[in-house]
Amino acid sequence: MRKQTSLNVTQGQRKSTVDEARDMVMMFIQNPNPNPAYISSKWQKPTPLMSTYNGSSCSPSSSFSVRCSFSSSVCPRRPLRYAVLGAGFAGLSVAWNLLQHGSRESHLCVDIYDEVGIGGGASGVAGGLLHPYSPKVKLLWRGAECWNETLNLLHIAEDALLKLVNKRKCETLENKESPIVRRRGILRPVVNLKNMNIMTENAQNCLANCRIEPIHEDAAKNLVPNLSVPSNLAFFMPEALNINARSYLEGLYLACQNLANDMSALGHVNREVHFHQKSVQSLPDLAGEYDAVIICFGARAVFLPELSGKLPLRTCRGIITHLQLGDDIREEYPEHSPSILSDAWLAVHGARNMDLGSTWDWKSMNYSRNVTTNEASKAMEVLLPKASSVYPAIKNWTATGAVGGLRAMPPLTADGSLPLLGCVDEYVDGSQTCKYWLFTGLGARGLLFHGWLGKLLALAVLSRDKSLLPSELTSWKHKRHQ
Ligand SMILES: Cc1cc2nc3c(=O)[nH]c(=O)nc-3n(C[C@H](O)[C@H](O)[C@H](O)COP(=O)(O)OP(=O)(O)OC[C@H]3O[C@@H](n4cnc5c(N)ncnc54)[C@H](O)[C@@H]3O)c2cc1C
Repeated sequence: MRKQTSLNVTQGQRKSTVDEARDMVMMFIQNPNPNPAYISSKWQKPTPLMSTYNGSSCSPSSSFSVRCSFSSSVCPRRPLRYAVLGAGFAGLSVAWNLLQHGSRESHLCVDIYDEVGIGGGASGVAGGLLHPYSPKVKLLWRGAECWNETLNLLHIAEDALLKLVNKRKCETLENKESPIVRRRGILRPVVNLKNMNIMTENAQNCLANCRIEPIHEDAAKNLVPNLSVPSNLAFFMPEALNINARSYLEGLYLACQNLANDMSALGHVNREVHFHQKSVQSLPDLAGEYDAVIICFGARAVFLPELSGKLPLRTCRGIITHLQLGDDIREEYPEHSPSILSDAWLAVHGARNMDLGSTWDWKSMNYSRNVTTNEASKAMEVLLPKASSVYPAIKNWTATGAVGGLRAMPPLTADGSLPLLGCVDEYVDGSQTCKYWLFTGLGARGLLFHGWLGKLLALAVLSRDKSLLPSELTSWKHKRHQ
């Protein structure tokens, strides 16, 4: 019988790490409709959720860690050490899954490196819009697996934050406001008449747990007063989410710490996770210390000397502006109204604040979060007309700030634009030892892709078996060599 996780295997029945990992990957890859039982019902039912958590209390200082006791009688082998480079969506998903799925027989240590901190790159500025569909509302590649796994990680991160906030162990999530989900539901008014038919057809193949409802103008205006629906058709995704990306990342790191502590406290497993606020400029510098190094530098992977010129990535800077409703405007954005997705997106937090995004500055190499006054005003010039074509009341909102980030855009394939995964030993030290791994190219859909792909990559790393990764994600390497 196939095991759900390595933790379910008893001592007498235990399989090797490789076999466990391979079983799990094959289960994830082969099952097109993963059992949603492991997803909290909380994420499946519509409840009013608002952000109340002030994430600053979770921010890491320059270096912090969880150290767990190591009993040599239980774990006689030397610790397995993994370096995860980058603490964005990709890096934290990989770190969580390494800790979660590592063999019970091994003392396992995960070191996370990031020169800025948790969420120091694009992930920390992301608009937080999450759903598994393309702009034409087509289900993306492996959309079900990706959607379910991201919900799972959101739940894990939220649980960790609530435990911290409540300072109580075993806190349940029922009847709590979410520290991560800002708003539930996303509405996409159709602005291009020529796509109406194909969108309507695509919407019919939506997931049961992330529905797409085609609605007409009146129904759309009931959801969002003052909306403009140029084509009299909109698609409503009631279960789609807008999350606070920074809180999520802080929660996920906290969950990694808790997992390491909890597993070690059981006495059978030893886990450590450490965060190092440090710049990594060259991969071989880390070589001696680690069993594997997983590069999750987002768009900045292209700056590493070993990978420079070898990745089929384009970089694209995006700016998001923060808007506030003017003091003289009484009519607020209703509490249960969805966010809006169009040529620009409006991610609304609370009644009087929203993020308006995002610009697309192709080939930019500027990864700074800071936005100059000039850059901010140019962004407004681009975004305001797009926003006002679906939400004319945007004129009542005033810009109060802006942030920027650099996306790593992968090439378009027959399956869509898919992240780049794989073993990159040959670029680093010419070996074939499954030591250096890459996870980048999350494009504009990092939230959707990071959970499931982070799990697949962690399982491949643990088993040192690159064939466990779906060929759709690794074919970029072969194409380069053709
Ligand atoms: C403006 C904007 C809005 C977006 N909105 C959304 C959205 O609503 N929904 C969505 O799904 N996606 C969104 N995205 C895309 C999403 O943010 C990315 O897909 C995702 O963040 C990529 O995650 P990552 O972990 O690969 O990279 P990153 O988040 O960039 O993480 C890389 C990390 O590596 C660190 N690092 C880099 N180089 C080094 C080095 N040499 N030494 C040490 N540390 C280093 C960085 O500090 C950073 O923390 C948006 C992106 C932008 C720019």
